[in-house]
Formats: sequence, structure tokens, C-alpha cells
Amino acid sequence: MPLELVECCICHKAFVRTGGSGVACPRCQGEAEALYGAIRALLRDHGDLQLTAQEVGELLGIEERVVQALVKEGRLELQPLPDGSPRTAGVCPGCGAAVTGGGLCERCRSALREECRAHRRGFL
Ligand SMILES: [Zn+2]
Ligand SMILES: [Zn+2]
Repeated sequence: MPLELVECCICHKAFVRTGGSGVACPRCQGEAEALYGAIRALLRDHGDLQLTAQEVGELLGIEERVVQALVKEGRLELQPLPDGSPRTAGVCPGCGAAVTGGGLCERCRSALREECRAHRRGFL
């Protein structure tokens, strides 16, 4: 099998990908697993919110493209996340409160952020 040099999605260093390894270098593998677990839990528990990759990244404090890379890796049974939100503008999908633009209101956002932190801790 030819060696494949890929960029780690977390630390951006190049590493040699071997058959089974994913999008993170060996040093970041643990972190990637933790993020993966948190993303999966978030989407499992809040599938009805139709979160976008950008929102998931924001909630987890990581870049959107890291979310995309982890999701694309495909070990998660996740649907690709939409780039734009299909939701009703002006209404929070979590509680129905009026918001400017689309997406979650501040209260739902901070509640989800708290959940993300807890999920992440559980995996680290
Ligand atoms: Zn790395
Ligand atoms: Zn809300």
C-alpha cells in the first residue's frame, strides 16, 4: 500500500496515513476521538435542531473545517452537515424564541455549549 501524506485536521502537521488511521495524526488521535464523540452526541441528542457544521464548530470551539473533516472521515454514522441552514429565519429552532437572522438564540446556544463541554470531558 502506498504511503499517503496527509495534513492533520487538528494541528495541521503532515503525517503519514496508514491503512486504518483517520484524519488526525497519532498525537491528535485522542483529541479527534473526543471531538468525534461530542459531535456525535450533539447530533444524536439534538437532531431536530438541524445544526450546521459552522454551528457545531462554534459550540465546540473548533473550526468548521475540523468538524467537516471529522464528519467526512465517515466512521461516524453522520449525515453530511448542511452548509446553510434550512430552518426558518428569525426563529430559534431550540425554543422558538425570536432571533435576528437564523440559528439558535443565546440561551439555547450557551446550554448546548455546556453540554458539549461535558461530552468532551467524558471522552478525554
Ligand atoms: Zn495532529
Ligand atoms: Zn432558543
